[in-house]
Amino acid sequence: MHSKTFRDFSLRPESQQALDEAGYTTPTPIQEQAIPILLRGHDLVGIAQTGTGKTLAYLLTIFQGLQDGGEGPQAVVMCPTRELAIQVAGEAERFGKHLGLRTVLAYGGTSSGMQKQALSDGCDLLVATPGRLLDFLQQATLSLRRVRVFVLDEADRMLDMGFIRDIDAILKRAPMSRQTLLFSATFPEEIRRLSERYMFHPETVRIEAQQIVKDTIDHSLIFVDKASKDAALVALLQRENPAKALVFTATREATSEISRRLRARNMEVVALSSLLSQANRERALDAFRRGEFHILVATDVAARGLDITDIDLVINYDVPMHAEDYVHRIGRTGRAHRLGRAITFVTPLDARRLTAIEHLLGEPVRPEPLAGFSGERAEGGGGGGAGRRRRPRTRGRRTSGARRG
Ligand code: AMP
Repeated sequence: MHSKTFRDFSLRPESQQALDEAGYTTPTPIQEQAIPILLRGHDLVGIAQTGTGKTLAYLLTIFQGLQDGGEGPQAVVMCPTRELAIQVAGEAERFGKHLGLRTVLAYGGTSSGMQKQALSDGCDLLVATPGRLLDFLQQATLSLRRVRVFVLDEADRMLDMGFIRDIDAILKRAPMSRQTLLFSATFPEEIRRLSERYMFHPETVRIEAQQIVKDTIDHSLIFVDKASKDAALVALLQRENPAKALVFTATREATSEISRRLRARNMEVVALSSLLSQANRERALDAFRRGEFHILVATDVAARGLDITDIDLVINYDVPMHAEDYVHRIGRTGRAHRLGRAITFVTPLDARRLTAIEHLLGEPVRPEPLAGFSGERAEGGGGGGAGRRRRPRTRGRRTSGARRG
């Protein structure tokens, strides 16, 4: 369905070469829609979550306008978390390597000496979290006067995390002539206000939750009783034998509880909770990325901003409280053009939440059996969802996703 290729954008040869090397030929929907707008120099609001390919959409734009020489960053990407910042910088190095791009990462929670040094050694692209970026501005370690492209990535997360004042203070110091890009998974009132304040007639591109889920994720439900969830989790992990699975729980206590139980069964599991120190979090994530552990157990909060691209299975041990979180969670698999898989445990108590999820997606989620577990779908739940009695689909989407590779 995407008839366009990256070549249609007439990118710089250095960018095109990096894309060729990565084997990326077809732009994702957000890239297809956003890149032409960005290349015309417009400000842009992109409503899209991580996993849609938004990073490359703005990086390719930044690369297009890079100039040689000069001091101070030509582009800034501001991110809510250090995990996301690291991910973005990695992507920038990968796709900017033929341009000789100098990327500097700056985030809080670590000493600033090396980051300052890196800045003074030369920086074309600065990827930073708001607090540290503002520190550097206030200390005059950094000037934004050369900045031509300013990106606010995961802007809704930054606002959730209370960065609004920092963002205000930072954007006031960026040149008026800049191009401003804002990406956000959601579009609440605060984001609209932010865009009105700091952007010039932005165009909006929206990648709908429904579209992401439909296009890239094979997701299903397993009906279980609350008391059988642990046994069902073990059985499911044994059946699927994933190389990288992400298990979501409702609380951080459940995170440690479940990982303890799985470990007792000799499964290679690591728990990510906000109880861990930053250093231990990093260590846990690295070990998971390297494949030393096959299973990562986390809460929504702990998983925020986390970007691990090759997850082949997401398990919702607990149904998320908000329907949007369902989309965020399962969006961790099925990144870009790969088909991912997500399975959710549903107990009779979850009827309302399931209704809300299906309402958001606009269709029922397919139930599937798990040998030895035969829970039933609870009817009703009193929620306001439409179409409770539609027949569930019986066939997976794997076959229909053949165009993805
Ligand atoms: P993002 O939403 O920016 O975090 O991107 C998610 C993942 O998709 C990253 O690993 C990207 O390298 C990858 N990706 C981005 N664009 C494409 C593309 N056009 N084709 C294949 N993979 C892509």
